[in-house]
Formats: sequence, structure tokens, C-alpha cells
Amino acid sequence: MTAIEVTNVTKEYQTGEETFLALKGIDFSLARGEFVSIMGPSGSGKSTFLNIIGLLDQPTTGSVSLDGQDVTELTDRRRTTVRKQTIGFIFQDFFLIPTLSAKENVELPAIYEIDETIRSRATMLLERVGLGNRLKHHPDQLSGGQKQRVAIARSLINSPRILLADEPTGNLDSETSEQVLDEFTRIARDENVAIIAVTHDPQVTEYTDRTIELRDGRLTS
Ligand code: ADP
Ligand code: ADP
Repeated sequence: MTAIEVTNVTKEYQTGEETFLALKGIDFSLARGEFVSIMGPSGSGKSTFLNIIGLLDQPTTGSVSLDGQDVTELTDRRRTTVRKQTIGFIFQDFFLIPTLSAKENVELPAIYEIDETIRSRATMLLERVGLGNRLKHHPDQLSGGQKQRVAIARSLINSPRILLADEPTGNLDSETSEQVLDEFTRIARDENVAIIAVTHDPQVTEYTDRTIELRDGRLTS
């Protein structure tokens, strides 16, 4: 089953009179259960590409399908719904809410009302990432690796088919990165989730099924 299908996507940015072609005809597909890394120099279009797949931005031309659904022409409202149902996001800086506990952070993005089902799912997800004994801890009481594992649990609360991670190990030492990368590998394999990690970290590529390189708005393998 194809999780992501990107066909001939371009992205043009307009700054005053200037237009800049940040993506120059991208073809890319990713199956469920696959874990890939995207590397490339700064300015090569990685964030732009991730934002388009994550339904945070739209391509100028070309098409994007997620989980078999063409999402190129959706209304803004529908796009937001599909994003919340389909995609989990993980960032370098974790973006946990400091005043909430680990468990409350995990519950927060739930699309449905935070009821007993969501609460027990949050507990289950934190147990699964090895933090069953840290449910009530606040972010400042957790290590970097623990914070990133809370962020991973949070990204899974709505059972997404796709995880998008932007420099997920950027703030972690190599031993902690290993734990986080093991977690991604397990999620891809056991839960059949498609995972993209944009990264500069060569350690990540040791864990991924494929590494793709973006250069100057074009993909190379
Ligand atoms: P990366 O994530 O690989 O650093 P980006 O996708 O952020 O690359 O940017 C790709 C190119 O597009 C860069 O040259 C950047 O300056 C340009 N760019 C990104 N966002 C915008 C924007 N909103 N307006 C104009 N140019 C942009
Ligand atoms: P990162 O790639 O580290 O996630 P950003 O996506 O914020 O960082 O920006 C990447 C590149 O895109 C930078 O070179 C930045 O200057 C450029 N960029 C981002 N937004 C704009 C914008 N609105 N106009 C022009 N360039 C932009």
C-alpha cells in the first residue's frame, strides 16, 4: 500500500518581482512501513518538500496522494482534517508544552474529545516508548531523549499512517539518538507507518531503508 505518492511536484516562491523555483519536478513514493531519510544541503528544498507532504503548504504544480487519496485540490478545511487524521509531526526541538505533564502533552493533539479512550491510549503510547514511569513528569524533568520519546508518543495519538520528522536527532547525543531511531524502526515495522526523517545526521541513515538526497530542488538517490 502506497502511503505517499508525489508526482512531478514543483514549488515556486514569489518574493516581490522575483520568482524562485525551490522544487523542480519531484517524483517520490513511499510505502507503508518504510522508513526513509532525506538529506541535502541547507536551501535544497527539504523543508519545502516536507511541508507539502505534511499538507502545510501546496505545490505550484504536480500532485500529492496520501494513503491513496489525492490531496492536491482539497479545500483548506478538508486539508486540515486530512492532516490531523493522517500525519504525525516530530521536530528537533520537541515542542512540548512545559506546563503540561508528559501524558497531557500526548493527549493534547487528539482530534476527538479527551475521554477515557484517549487517556488510556496516551498511557499505552508512553509505555510503548519506555516512559510508563514518567507519565506525570513535566518536560523540564525529562532528558532530551525522553522528551523526544514523549514527542513520538504524541505524534501517534491519532493513529497516523505517516510520520514526518524534521531533524529528530538534531538535539540528541548519539546514544540517545539510537534509542529514538530504534523507536522509529519499530513503529515502521510493527505499526506499518511510513516515516520520513529530514536530517543532516549520518547516524539516521544507518537505520533507514533508503536515503534520498535533495540538491537544488531535485531528488537524487
Ligand atoms: P532546506 O529545508 O533544504 O534548507 P527550504 O525548503 O527551506 O530548504 O528552502 C528551499 C529554497 O527556497 C531556499 O532557497 C529558500 O531560501 C527558499 N524559500 C523557502 N521558503 C521560502 C519562502 N517562503 N519564500 C521565498 N523563498 C523561500
Ligand atoms: P530550516 O530549513 O532550518 O528548517 P527554514 O525552513 O525556516 O529553516 O528556512 C530555510 C531557508 O528558507 C532559509 O534559508 C530561509 O532564509 C529561507 N526562508 C524561509 N522563509 C523564507 C521567506 N519567507 N522568504 C525567503 N526565504 C525564506
